[in-house]
Order: sequence, then structure tokens, then C-alpha cells
Amino acid sequence: MPLIARIALNRPLRRLFDYTVPGGLKLVPGQRVRIPFGQQQTTGLVVQTGVEPPPGINLKPVFATLEDWPALPEETLNLLSWASDYYQHPLGECLFTALPPALRRGRKAEEKPVEWWMACNHGEPLPANAHRQKELLEWLSQHNRGTATSDIIKAGFTRTQLRALSDKQLVQTIAPPVPGSQPEAPELLARRPTLSAAQAAAAEELASPREGFSAFLLYGITGSGKTEIYLHYLKQQLGAGDQALVLVPEINLTPQTVARFRHYFGTRIVVWHSALNDSERLTTWLKIREGEPVILIGTRSAVLLPFTGLRTIIVDEEHDSSYKQGEGFRYSGRDLAVYRAHLNRCPVILGSATPSLESVYNAEQGKYRLVKLEERAGNAAPPAISLLDIRSRPLEGGLSRPALNAIDQTLAKGDQALVFVNRRGFAPVMMCFDCGHMVGCPRCDTRLTYHRRDRAMRCHHCNYQTAATERCPKCQSDAFKPVGQGTERTEDILASAFPHTPVVRVDRDSTQRKGSIQNILSQVNSGKPCVLVGTQMLAKGHDFPNVTLVVVVNADGGLFSVDFRAPEQLIQTLLQVSGRAGRGTKSGKVLVQTCHSDHPLLRTLCEGHYLDIAEQLLSEREEGLFPPFRAMAIFRAEADTMEKSLQVLDAIKPLTHAPGIETWGPLPAMIARRADKHRAQLVLNTRNRKRLNTLLAGICQELDQKKLPAGVKWMIDVDPQETG
Ligand code: ADP
Ligand code: ZN
Ligand code: ZN
Repeated sequence: MPLIARIALNRPLRRLFDYTVPGGLKLVPGQRVRIPFGQQQTTGLVVQTGVEPPPGINLKPVFATLEDWPALPEETLNLLSWASDYYQHPLGECLFTALPPALRRGRKAEEKPVEWWMACNHGEPLPANAHRQKELLEWLSQHNRGTATSDIIKAGFTRTQLRALSDKQLVQTIAPPVPGSQPEAPELLARRPTLSAAQAAAAEELASPREGFSAFLLYGITGSGKTEIYLHYLKQQLGAGDQALVLVPEINLTPQTVARFRHYFGTRIVVWHSALNDSERLTTWLKIREGEPVILIGTRSAVLLPFTGLRTIIVDEEHDSSYKQGEGFRYSGRDLAVYRAHLNRCPVILGSATPSLESVYNAEQGKYRLVKLEERAGNAAPPAISLLDIRSRPLEGGLSRPALNAIDQTLAKGDQALVFVNRRGFAPVMMCFDCGHMVGCPRCDTRLTYHRRDRAMRCHHCNYQTAATERCPKCQSDAFKPVGQGTERTEDILASAFPHTPVVRVDRDSTQRKGSIQNILSQVNSGKPCVLVGTQMLAKGHDFPNVTLVVVVNADGGLFSVDFRAPEQLIQTLLQVSGRAGRGTKSGKVLVQTCHSDHPLLRTLCEGHYLDIAEQLLSEREEGLFPPFRAMAIFRAEADTMEKSLQVLDAIKPLTHAPGIETWGPLPAMIARRADKHRAQLVLNTRNRKRLNTLLAGICQELDQKKLPAGVKWMIDVDPQETG
């Protein structure tokens, strides 16, 4: 009897499908095939071959293979199967996540030829009303070495405009330049520093020869030169044919990082992030799959790429919560990186100035080797942090007089200051001082943020927006005012307090347009006095050598949150943002405004050795029975009514009863209604991760068979990052 193949589909189904294999077709696991499915044809991925057919069932045959090699090589397939099991996400969807969109849709695994365009000096004249075509032609004339179609489209032009010019013979296609033909600029090579003694010692520890898997936690304070260590490490460790993976939380916010890697490795560097278009994704994916010896710098999903010659993995800013996927296949890029290194028998380095409590704990347990780097690379000492109690101080745009004075002195010295505000927009809420009304989101249990620049009120949870009004929408009173601080408001205050100094705002709104972060950063990098005001974005990995003062407008947000991760995240953010001060040769100072200057967490921040703080937070986690001392998973439900959501979780709850498993809930989520969905959660907590995994697998199987009320969605989140 002919043997059959088990095939995964890109569908949220916790099962595989069996097909017969026609004679002459040779299949291997990881290969893409075309198969009949229902009345349609679809793309599948072979998971298993040579399976005995189940008796008495008539199976359909595989139509064809899409290529004669496995799209997902064995190691990638093993990684994804493990992840599917660990995160309880359907295997098919996990596998397809590792394919670029074009291949998910069943397209051929080959690159479309890249077209390059150049303006010609002749051709038909353009009609007077063809403004965009004229602009495109001018734009192309400025790029006299030619431009790829994708870049033309990125610049805001269309294929139709291009074709119109081509028809008039005003533009022509040319051969694309050969990659790698641009030599490294000598002035960039000259900028490579030699490692300091402390860096060299750390690099040596990381490089100590060892066969197979090893995991390192590189704890290096901000500005200690971790990036420089990665560069040296890769230079030293990578053979000419090796691949390396460098995971970063975000690429577009920190173009400097990629630039620094390119200075060392030139065209060996390739990037992977959400802003790539489908054809760029396919090109890069194919490079990785074909084993080209690249160093890939990528965000979370890069960990799933089909490397075949991976020799080393680095996870920069490993504490960053963006490594955890928040929906669908809820994997942690960092944790999968460690598992992948294990599968690959290669080293992995997790680097951070503020490592996650999980990683600190793993280092204590001997799972990771802790490598410390506790001095700054330049000459400067780490910045001194002090608390500024604002309880009885008048504030202007959230800033106290001493903070404004400190900014003034910083600018007078010719330095730059950075002001951190944890909310974008003008103010977190608009409130009526007559009737007390606060404008809420009609679709969520949240308040609308007032955005003065666009005269709008917006929900930061569902993107609902409405025009801002002068009067209270409820009682028409004109005592209707913004309450609290956002970046726009602080920007205004700073602009009027320092009228002769540029004030630069960095938040999601000000950086939305392509290239704007580069423009903003180049202004800061010019080194002239300026005040930067911004959100979290400013805390991430930037190197601003002339910033010598950091002001935190309000540190109190995370002090009393119910989320068990809030204190950890608060400290990490404060230390990361503080770390932007005094990175060059000058030393820096940090002022943290607070109404709780006697809060123990803030006090330790100032005395601050991060590992000591982490120790203290870990003992609180242990007492509270939280991760990393316990394994945690959350069942979440969302529906058109809270009743339905709770009902589903109530039905799940009895299934979770097992020895050693604690269950909390079901309870409405912290934001109970979001985008008109009513959300609830059921938390599972245990010492025994293995048992939890088996239990969850069983529950998922059972739920798949149950008929649930219409309009309810349930999902499971293993190792949740957010527990609200
Ligand atoms: P981290 O990633 O730890 O915050 P970086 O690698 O960005 O630190 O280094 C901080 C700054 O110090 C950068 O401007 C970098 O160019 C500089 N730097 C790093 N190592 C050295 C060194 N050995 N000598 C001189 N400058 C260095
Ligand atoms: Zn009112
Ligand atoms: Zn909303």
C-alpha cells in the first residue's frame, strides 16, 4: 500500500491533514505542496512522510510540489514544532509564520528581477497637467546612478506614473548595481575603537572556546559598549561561510545600530523588520534559506527564519517586551532564540543594561553564564540619579522650577537635555470642571487622549478618533480643559521657556513619516544645544553623546499598578532613559520627578545597582508566587458581551483542575472593553511547567471539539507579558 504524507495548512486548526502521494512525487518534511482542500486548492507544508494510511478512509492525492527542496529545513521545522507545542498554537499557522507572505500564498520561491530606472535626456514632452510624472522625472534625475522600482514607490510615486514616463521614453531601465561592489568608506573604518580593558575581558569570557550550546547573559550598564563587544565578537567568531542572527527590539528607531554593523561588515549585513515589502522579504528569506553567510539584524520574527548555517545568536536589549508577540502565535523571540541556539548547538548572548528578571534568575540558576560590564566605554561615569519631590511644587506643563532651572543650566553649558514623558498627545484626558465629565472612548473603557496639533481626541487602544471640542460635550460648559501631561504639552512649555533653543519631540506621532526619525536624530547628532522631549522611544538604544541631563516628568505611573511586571518595567524604563545621559566624555545627571520620593523602589533606583534591584524584585516575585518562580498561562476570551466571555472561561475552569495547578478568575480584564470587545481572563499558575503544558494541550483539544456560543473567541497566552 502506498504511504501517505501529513500536511499542515495555514489555518487555525490543531490538526494535520493526510494525503496520498502520487507515484513519482518525492516529498520531504518542510516542502511546500499544492493540495485539494474542500472545493479549493491550497498551499500546504509537508510535516511527515511515509505514514501508514488509516484504514477505510479515501484520501485525496497531493497535486504537485511547489519546489523540489524543503522551504523549511529540518532545524527550523524542529524549532517551530517545539514552539507550537510550547505556546499551544496550531502547528500550521506556526510553520506558515516562518514563510514570507509571497510563499504563504503559494507563489514561486524565486526573486522577481529587480528593475532599476534612470531618467533619459530625451523623449516626448510631458503634458502640462502631468504634475506627478514631472515630479517623478525630476526626482529620478537627481538619482543619477539609477533607482530600484521599490524605492520609487517608497518615495510616494506609483507604477502607473513610472509606466507613463517609460511609454514616453523619458525613463529607461538599467542593470542594477552588483551588491557588494561598494567598498567601505575609509573614514568609517578609522572610527572603530579598540576595546577597553573591561570590554576586552568581557569579550574574552564570551569567546572562551566551548563546543555546542552555551547561553550568556551580558549585563552591561548603559553606555558600556555592548554593541562594540557584539561587533568584535562576531568578527572573531564567524567563519567566512557562517550565518549569524542579531535580534533587536526595533530597527527603524535606531538606524545608528545598523549603521555601526555595516561599518564593520559592509554588505554582509542584511535586515529583517516589519517595514520591508513582500519582495524585499522574499529576497532576504531566500538569502537566508540558501545559506548565504549573512549577519541578519532583525526584529522578533527573524528568529523563525530558515537559517542553515547559523553559528551564533545575539539578542540585544533582551528585556524588551516587544520580543513577545502580542496576538496570534504568541511566542517570545528571545526565548525561541535560546531554544534555537540549543537546537543548533551554538552560543547565544542575551545583552542588556536591565536584564529581565527571568534572565537574571536563569543566570543565578546556572543556566546562563553571567558576564558583567560595569563601566562606561567613554570616560564618563554613569549618570547620577536623584529624585525631585513635586508634591507641593507648582508645575508648568508638568515641569517643576528646579527641573526647568536644570535644563537652563545644561543648555547654557552648550549641552543637550532630554525630557521623558510617558504619554504622547497633549493631555491624557479632557475634563469638564463644571459637570466633571471626562471624555471616554465609545468603543473602549478608556479615556480619549487630547491631541492638540491635529485638534483631535484619540483612543490609544483602538485608534478611534473624533474632533476636539471647545466646550463640554455633555453640559456645553466652556470650563472644559486638558488634564495631565503629554509630550505635546511639555513640548509647548519647553518651547516657551527656551525660545532660542530647538525643542525636538520624538514620539509615535512625530516620527510617523518615513525618514523623520533620521531627520530628528541628525539634528540631535549635530551636537548643538537642544531639548529632546519624548516617550519610551527615546529610551531605546540611542547614543546621544551631548545629552548630559535627563528629566523624567513623572515616574509614578508604574508604582501602584496591579500588573506583577509593572515595577520591573518601571525600573527598566527609568534606567534605560537615564542611560541616555552622559554617554560621551561628559558626565550626566538625571532628575526624576515624583510624588512618592520615599517609595522604596525609587530610593533603590538612586542608590542603584540594577542587579541588586533585580534581586529585591525577584524576592517579591517569589513571595507573590509569580514567574519566574512559577509558570504562568492565561486563557483569554473576548465576545460582544462580558457575560459570554466569562461563560466560556467558566466552562474552561473545571478543565484546569489538576494537582499543583492554581487557577485565578475568570475576571474581566483591566480594560474590560476594548474596540467593542468584552474581555476576560483566567490565569493558570504552577510550579510544574511540564504538567501545565500537558494540561493545556488537553484543554485545547477539548475546546476545539466543543461548540462555543457564537461571537466568542478564546486564546491562550503562555508566559504572558501583559497580565492586565
Ligand atoms: P551600549 O550598547 O552598551 O549602550 P554602545 O556600544 O552604544 O553602548 O557604546 C556607547 C558609546 O561608547 C558609543 O558611542 C560607542 O561608540 C562608544 N564606545 C564603545 N566602545 C568604545 C571604546 N572601546 N572606545 C571608545 N568608545 C567606545
Ligand atoms: Zn460638562
Ligand atoms: Zn477605544
